[in-house]
Amino acid sequence: HDGGKTPHAREEDLKKLYEKYEKIFSITPQRLRMITDRFVGVLEEGLKKPDQTVPMLPAFVFGWPTGEEVGSYLALDLGGTNLRVCHVVLKGQGKFEITQTKFRLTEEQKQIEGQELFDFCAECLDTFVKDHFGDANGEVILEEEIALGFTFSYPMSQDRIDHGKLIRWTKGFGNPNTEGRDCAAMFRASLEKYGVPIKMTSLINDTTGTLIASNYVNKDTRIACIFGTGCNAAYMEHIRDIPKINDLGLPGDQDMAINCEYGAFDSFTHEHMAEIRTKYDEHIDLHSNKPHEQTYEKMIAGLYLGELFRLVLIELSDEGDLFLGQNTYKIEKPYAFDTAFLSLIESDPTDELLTVTGLFTHFFGLDTTLEERHFFRKLARLIGTRAARLSSCGIAALVTKMGYLEQGCGVGADGSLYSKYPGFPDRLHEALEDIFGEKGKKIRTYQAEDGSGVGSAIIAAMTKARKEAGIH
Ligand code: BGC
Ligand code: MG
Repeated sequence: HDGGKTPHAREEDLKKLYEKYEKIFSITPQRLRMITDRFVGVLEEGLKKPDQTVPMLPAFVFGWPTGEEVGSYLALDLGGTNLRVCHVVLKGQGKFEITQTKFRLTEEQKQIEGQELFDFCAECLDTFVKDHFGDANGEVILEEEIALGFTFSYPMSQDRIDHGKLIRWTKGFGNPNTEGRDCAAMFRASLEKYGVPIKMTSLINDTTGTLIASNYVNKDTRIACIFGTGCNAAYMEHIRDIPKINDLGLPGDQDMAINCEYGAFDSFTHEHMAEIRTKYDEHIDLHSNKPHEQTYEKMIAGLYLGELFRLVLIELSDEGDLFLGQNTYKIEKPYAFDTAFLSLIESDPTDELLTVTGLFTHFFGLDTTLEERHFFRKLARLIGTRAARLSSCGIAALVTKMGYLEQGCGVGADGSLYSKYPGFPDRLHEALEDIFGEKGKKIRTYQAEDGSGVGSAIIAAMTKARKEAGIH
């Protein structure tokens, strides 16, 4: 199946192919700096005017937690891959305890009627509440009402913390009759339907939760980002520097968290990354359920990297450079190649790359030679590295905009790529140094606290405290 070539000739061919892809997927330091510059401009536009591509959404979370927030809260996390219900006990001094149950979302659930999706959320919450707070008959009698924070990780426009209009679905979701509607109201309707005796008091984005949770335990934290199924960041802004909400009459000297939704960077016009966008990126975009949206995210996030790799393999196979004479139907299926496979390929500890061998035979029924497996590993590295390097631009843009470079700052980061992809944090840091030089070292990213669970609970506590103080 290697076209009858000697291993050496085959190695030479693969080397040439690799060089081709190396050109396609590499990003120079200069290019990173150019993208960062454009990014800064886009962030500023989003703060000035409503309805921008990168919408810079006011999150109605005011200032940092004190670290002394306490109490018992529920958190519901509708992410890109799982639905999670958590019970969080905040103990103050940055300490907490968490119990949780996870449900994997099926592909079908990402497309059912919006109201049905929220019904499913309420049902899972109901089961959790009965298991944790019910008596033997499942009867739930609570001495005190438990507040629930709902982490809904999609762009929402909010004018208060317990309300949020879905701007658009991302991460492959497409549930009808949800965009443009208040998801808090839809979720409350589901809670009523199932008679769940819980009050949802705050609706937040995962990045906002991550920002608050990371700051709760680490006071250095200024920015939080997610590199998971999707990508995005949040940070704390001075209210006076959010011109588009001037008319709300909020105190200008106070701070509010902003959910940037910067996965949307370069959507629609595709002008800011035109020099590095590849035909594979374009293919992914055009074949997605949301063409032209989330352009930056589609080049970076976990949902898409495996697909990017697969598209290159298909191209090579079509051109007769791979899998000659083998049945390739399994790998021809869109999204058949999980991003977790790239992690596995990059981290295979064996000389013979036996993990890679097993992966290709087991999942795709394909035989590979050692030379090919080395090629796959290098290709995975190109794609993973491009994602990490591009990821640095969003962070660098926020750092630049806020003037955090001189004194340095902490960035809480979470998501499967950041926490599981081999070398992702190092490659990200390297890129920050490419952008900022030595000073880039002062931007420290670290594994964030669980934003959608703990962060959500802290925000529920902060919201409660504001209410008790009579601030609305
Ligand atoms: C969503 C963001 C979210 C990010 C990470 C993106 O697709 O639009 O709201 O923060 O994914 O989960
Ligand atoms: Mg999540």
